[in-house]
Amino acid sequence: MIHSEDSSRADVLIVGAGIGGLTLALELHAAGRQVQVLEVAEELGAVGVGINVMPHATRVLAELGLLPALSAMAVTTRDGYYFNRFGQQIHHETLGTGATHAYPQLSIHRGDLHTVLLQAVRDRLGPHAIRTGVKCVGFNQDRDGVAALVEATADGRRLPPVRADALVGCDGIHSAIRKQLHPNEGAPVYSGVNMWRGVTVAPPFLGGAAMVRAGWLTTGKLVIYPIRDNVDGQGNQLINWVAELETPAHKARAWNTPGELTDFSLAFADWKFDWLDVPALLAQAESVLEYPMVDQDPLPFWGEGRVTLLGDAAHPMVPRGSNGAAQAILDARALREHLAEPDVERALAHYEAERRPATSSVVLANRATPPDAILREVYERTGDRAFDDISNVISPDEMEKLLQQYRRLTAGADR
Ligand SMILES: Cc1cc2nc3c(=O)[nH]c(=O)nc-3n(C[C@H](O)[C@H](O)[C@H](O)COP(=O)(O)OP(=O)(O)OC[C@H]3O[C@@H](n4cnc5c(N)ncnc54)[C@H](O)[C@@H]3O)c2cc1C
Repeated sequence: MIHSEDSSRADVLIVGAGIGGLTLALELHAAGRQVQVLEVAEELGAVGVGINVMPHATRVLAELGLLPALSAMAVTTRDGYYFNRFGQQIHHETLGTGATHAYPQLSIHRGDLHTVLLQAVRDRLGPHAIRTGVKCVGFNQDRDGVAALVEATADGRRLPPVRADALVGCDGIHSAIRKQLHPNEGAPVYSGVNMWRGVTVAPPFLGGAAMVRAGWLTTGKLVIYPIRDNVDGQGNQLINWVAELETPAHKARAWNTPGELTDFSLAFADWKFDWLDVPALLAQAESVLEYPMVDQDPLPFWGEGRVTLLGDAAHPMVPRGSNGAAQAILDARALREHLAEPDVERALAHYEAERRPATSSVVLANRATPPDAILREVYERTGDRAFDDISNVISPDEMEKLLQQYRRLTAGADR
């Protein structure tokens, strides 16, 4: 039997108040469930840099009534551009609602997305729905329920276990719940590509709502998009950039590892285009973070009895294709729907049966057939040289096929 000093028992205990955990809290609250969220951080601040909410995830957040708040903070992305490293345009596409999606693509600071979710949880579920400064170190379960084993973050003091009918590990890339379920899982797989991220205040480029992908990993690839409008009253935007470069060297996987400009800026030293001065953009960054492009093999199972996983805890993926947050948000909607079934264990099993294969295909697609595969194709076909006419390198049909290949795979995970 599990013993707990907690008198008020939640239906569902959510471990981790990140993007997935907070979305799940809102979904379950909307379905009338009692929810408790445990978060290791002592304070929930606006951390991270840029993130994209793809239309399939925007739909879920819009149905939670969050679109006005998100749109007020984010940039609604309209255009997708692909360039080679000489600044020659390979392809343009219309994104979001302009591309017949019902909902927009939002480019947003992770801190802004997190703030909107956090505020909604506090408004709707009350100030005690999230317990911060509580580290979950594992769980016990029996026929009657599940208990999270917890410690105070500040001093490691054991706290009374927290009981519920179900426990969902939304505790991100270093998930303690995943570790208990899969104690012998191997280390993350390094893809051979390292990533540096940052934000810079700069004038709008290419219409002010464009996501640019340029170059290729061997000699340097960049993804650039604005995430906040008019940050200084003079029309400048906060521009998010992500530089990726093949290199054997990499640090351990952590979202907040500081990076050095000089470790990668040489690869972009001559990227001075009429639409953007890339070396200046990088040099004027407010801060630089480093992250290795790693992921983990899809798991053979996510849960056991009354326990399951969601978001990065369930399916850590290479952060490419804007599906890290999107898939966590889709998981949350699916779990709410399956939990309508009264038998908790069956509900979690059905949730896993729907979402594990769907997200596994996204993890594998991010490794092998990334969303910017047309950049690789042009890099290889031109031998990394400038072209006279892109139609002599790759036809519009071929490009469309490559783009659709990734979309179909991730849309397979779409509901
Ligand atoms: C600090 C931080 C910065 C990030 N910055 C970016 C970024 O700039 N760009 C980007 O694309 N993605 C970023 N991410 C990742 C991104 O949020 C996720 O990939 C995606 O949104 C999926 O969300 P998630 O809820 O699964 O994981 P996350 O959003 O990572 O949330 C996991 C949560 O669980 C908490 N937690 C972890 N362990 C425990 C424990 N043992 N007990 C209790 N709580 C625990 C964490 O503190 C965190 O709040 C960041 C994540 C974090 C935590």
